Amino acid sequence: MADNRITHSAADRPVAVITGASSGIGAATAWALARAGHDLVLGARRTDRLGDLAAKIVAEIPEVAVSTSALDVTDVDSVDAFCAGISRADVLVNNAGGAIGTTSIADSVDDEWQQMFDVNVLGVLRVTRGLLALLRNSPCATVVSIGSIAAVEPYLGGGGYNAAKHAVRALTRVLRLELLGEPVRVCEIDPGMVETEFSINRFGGDEDRAAAVYEGLTPLSAEDVAEAVAWVATRPAHVNVDSMLLLARDQTSAQRVHRVTA
Ligand code: NAP
Repeated sequence: MADNRITHSAADRPVAVITGASSGIGAATAWALARAGHDLVLGARRTDRLGDLAAKIVAEIPEVAVSTSALDVTDVDSVDAFCAGISRADVLVNNAGGAIGTTSIADSVDDEWQQMFDVNVLGVLRVTRGLLALLRNSPCATVVSIGSIAAVEPYLGGGGYNAAKHAVRALTRVLRLELLGEPVRVCEIDPGMVETEFSINRFGGDEDRAAAVYEGLTPLSAEDVAEAVAWVATRPAHVNVDSMLLLARDQTSAQRVHRVTA
């Protein structure tokens, strides 16, 4: 039987590009892919954090080459400059994103919807499009977009975030159709609750409100999702993991969770 495992010589290390690598799932994915033998290109707005992360990774895994770049996926010029600085891409992790608030449709604020679409949807579109030529040049490329359970299941208060992540799902599926027959795999990983800075950002910096989301249950960690990304990217070349819904055991749907109260 043909062995389709992706093998690279030490001089031919695959390069993984990760957006939103300055915290949470993106930072954990940098570690996971570095440990899986990838060199890294890390992008986010907070470049100081990227620098700290890169130094820690290189200190622990010296053979990994890590480069960091300022990236605002909502800014076309920033995405263009980011992509122009990359000469090889074998894995792209479209991770930058987030939610704003939980307002109803009735009370919705255009600017919040606009921002959620810009970062979650157009951000994925811009970076994917910008790196597609390089991905096509790879012996076997993988594009992983971090969606959400919000892409699969509408929920009260989900509003703009639901709509944006549903759009990411549509974009990802169309991309998979468009790349059929080419050596580029396309995957969407949809996590449920993951304890990161996500809820703090969603609630405008309200740490108590964010902490309450995870109270009395064990959410996923950023590392849990990162392991899934690394697993998807290291399957044999003929295997495409199209989508993966990844939930904590304590969560069965967007708003149905099991909490232990003291
Ligand atoms: P997080 O800790 O807040 O990380 C978000 C990352 O996105 C940060 O590195 C941030 O970096 C980056 N980012 C935000 N806006 C950006 C922009 N305009 N340009 C470039 N980077 C930007 O949250 P997380 O949980 O790891 O979120 C990662 C992804 O998982 C998001 O797409 C989120 O929607 C999704 N997700 C999260 C959960 C959850 O419960 N945590 C569940 C399902 C899906 P800078 O601020 O430095 O730019």
